[in-house]
Parts: sequence; C-alpha cells; structure tokens
Amino acid sequence: MVDIKHNIDSILREIDGRNCTLIAVSKTKPNELIQEAYNSGQIHFGENKVQELAGKYEILPKDIKWHMIGHLQRNKVKYIAPFVHLIHSVDSERLLKAIDKEARKAGRVIDCLLQVHIAEESTKFGFDEEELLSLLHSDEFANLKNINIKGLMGMATFTEDQEQIRREFSGLKKLFDKIKNGVSVDNISMDELSMGMSGDYMIALECGSTMIRVGSSIFGERNYA
Ligand SMILES: *Cc1c(COP(=O)(O)O)cnc(C)c1O
Repeated sequence: MVDIKHNIDSILREIDGRNCTLIAVSKTKPNELIQEAYNSGQIHFGENKVQELAGKYEILPKDIKWHMIGHLQRNKVKYIAPFVHLIHSVDSERLLKAIDKEARKAGRVIDCLLQVHIAEESTKFGFDEEELLSLLHSDEFANLKNINIKGLMGMATFTEDQEQIRREFSGLKKLFDKIKNGVSVDNISMDELSMGMSGDYMIALECGSTMIRVGSSIFGERNYA
C-alpha cells in the first residue's frame, strides 16, 4: 500500500520555506487516491490528458486546482477552458491563440506557462529560446487578452547524469530571469517556473523551481494498460 499522506508530507518538508508549490501528478490514478491526497490537504493536481482531466473535474471536489501538464491539442482546449487553473504545456503560438479564443468564450483569462525545450531528446515538446523571445515581442502576442503568461515550464533529459540535468534547469532559469527582467507586456507576469519531477525535483529546487510536478513519488509507480 502506498502511504499518500506520508509521501506528500515528506515532500512538503523538503520544499518548506522555498516558495515552491507541490503539484500532485495524478494521471492514470483513480479518483479514490486523488480524494485521499485531497483529504490530507493537497489542492493542486496535474493531469496530462484532456478527457481524464475533464472527467475527474466533474466528480472530485470543486476547489481542486487542476493543472494541465501534457501536450494539448487545439481542438480539445474547449473541454478544459471553463475550469483549468494553469496550463503548463503551451508549446506553440497556434495553441496559445486557441486557448485565448476558448478563454474568451468562457469569459475567463487563463493562466499559462510556455513550455521550453531544454532536453537533449528531440521528442520533447516546447519552444526554443529564439522562438519564444520573438513570440513575446510580437504585436500579435500583445493582443491576446484572454491569456496570461505566468512563467515557463521545462522537462530535463531523462538521464542519470545529474550535472546535465542541472545545466538544463539552470539554462531555463536564466531564460526565465531574462524574460522577467526584460519583457514588459500586460499579459506576462513571470512568477512561476515549473520544473522538477519525482526523479529530479531536488535539483530543480536548487535551480530556482517554483512548481514541482510529482507523480510516482506520491502515488507510486504508474501502470499503463
Ligand atoms: C508524468 C509527468 C510528471 C510526473 O512524473 P513522475 O516522474 O511520476 O513524478 C511531471 N511532469 C509531466 C509533464 C508529466 O507528464
């Protein structure tokens, strides 16, 4: 049996005093386990599939703050736009525009993080630095009134090499600071840097993460059918 409350409490002790939010990544996990985490005081949960996220939102307590952390297709934004707390995985300008449009329909401003490609693997989604800066400086971007860019998100390479992970997270922190200090547009407020998962969140914290996304260290290993 996984002791969810114990796992959450020990991570909370590790991040205590660091201005960091723990997001419990509950993808593939049943509602009962999410409810158990919620009962122990956890409010922020992350999911990576629209259908699963929307289904869980319907059933679970309404004060849960739902984070979309997985690759998001434009035609599915409408299913989460009315309630999603933060979208971490905005990886293209077209997606950002789709979110803006659905947010307007829902009468909301949706908080988003821009996902930056920092890993060596070519499979991970995200902007590169140059693309990102040119987007943020464009007039088109400034006209997106129903999104607010709260910060950046990144995933490090899946490797045992701690120094490589540290280099990748530090690079993202540098870009974050550059935008925070250098770009002044109404729909950007660089407050959050989402980096770190079960295997690398301590390194991410040392590199300035403000949101760690932790799944298996809370709920145990995932079984994919
Ligand atoms: C699954 C997932 C996580 C959590 O992974 P764990 O290794 O189980 O902590 C974090 N971020 C993203 C984007 C994920 O898809």
